[in-house]
Amino acid sequence: MRKISADYIFPIHTQPVKNGVLTIADDGKIAGLSAFCENDNDIEFYDGIICPGFVNAHCHLELSHLKNAIPEHTGITGFITEISKLRNIADRSEQIKSAEFYDNFMYNQGIVAVGDISNSDLTFELKKQSKIFYHTFVEAFSCNESETDKILKNNQAIVDFGKRLGISISSTLHAPYSMCDKLFSEMKLRAEKYGILSYHNQETQDENEYFENNSGKFLKFYSDFAMPNKPLPTGKSSIRRLLDDVDKNTKILLVHNTFTTENDCDFAMSASKHITWTLCPKSNLYIENHLPPIEMFRRKNAKIAIGTDSLSSNTNLSMIDELLTVSDNFETVELNELLTWATLNGAEALGVEKKFGTFEQGKTPGTVLIDNINTKKMMLTKKSTSKIL
Ligand SMILES: [Zn+2]
Repeated sequence: MRKISADYIFPIHTQPVKNGVLTIADDGKIAGLSAFCENDNDIEFYDGIICPGFVNAHCHLELSHLKNAIPEHTGITGFITEISKLRNIADRSEQIKSAEFYDNFMYNQGIVAVGDISNSDLTFELKKQSKIFYHTFVEAFSCNESETDKILKNNQAIVDFGKRLGISISSTLHAPYSMCDKLFSEMKLRAEKYGILSYHNQETQDENEYFENNSGKFLKFYSDFAMPNKPLPTGKSSIRRLLDDVDKNTKILLVHNTFTTENDCDFAMSASKHITWTLCPKSNLYIENHLPPIEMFRRKNAKIAIGTDSLSSNTNLSMIDELLTVSDNFETVELNELLTWATLNGAEALGVEKKFGTFEQGKTPGTVLIDNINTKKMMLTKKSTSKIL
């Protein structure tokens, strides 16, 4: 049994408690939250605030070896061109070593659960051993219809291998611009069978430009790569490709949403009640130098979660850095709301809220200490760091 306290405890399901004391059983389960008691010598007290473990709702752990490999501000078409050249720049054992390092790094920073995109089985053994819970989305993309059967088979083989290892895993779609019709509809059905999908949405304005007006940088991208079965422009926003006809019960993580409009958001929220707008602010600044319309999402009461994306488009895999980026740019977002995005909302998006996300009794959410908080304004500062306790 452990009793821990700090300047404030943020349980997430209720308001912050000044000098609250969190009691944690030996098996990691939350036993209770009570008021501070001066005479209790068993309490470990920390300067700062304590919140449940972070849920990183979007990551590509297998790209960890690409830190600093791709320059900033390439735009998404430039970025994809670089990734396809560099993905296998290191040999498999070096790639695994980088992934192991950052798995450990994420845990020490307070990340307890991750929604992770994989294109291969590179990270599966380490996920099985990890202190972090991963849900792995095995992604597929191709604008070449003749490859569809091969890609579907390969995707299923990777999922089956993960299942045999006992990791949490499902199939998913990459993005509206990167899939021919046949692969898109087959993968959509597969993901819907699992009841969860993660999808890169409106990461660039060119994605809307292409689908709505048949213009923008994707035209050159498709011709440079000689893609025989590129998706056709529809005259409608790119978000419609997925959501015009989506299963109503599937949990949907829409990732990035950097160029999502108010109309898109209205449409999406009417198409499904299970959307989590998964934002990766540092990655957006890295690739497109643009941030998603966070005020708009808040006005619409849209559910927001936070992801780090991969080290190919970020300088770190740190949730606190993502939260700082939000609070630096959107000062009206209060700390309790930010932490809700980084904990409970991510847990709900991945369907693991019974275990993670809040300090409710019986959960095993992990505990994170965040220090160097401005407790007067209750804000993160540039010096704030996080660690698992
Ligand atoms: Zn991604």
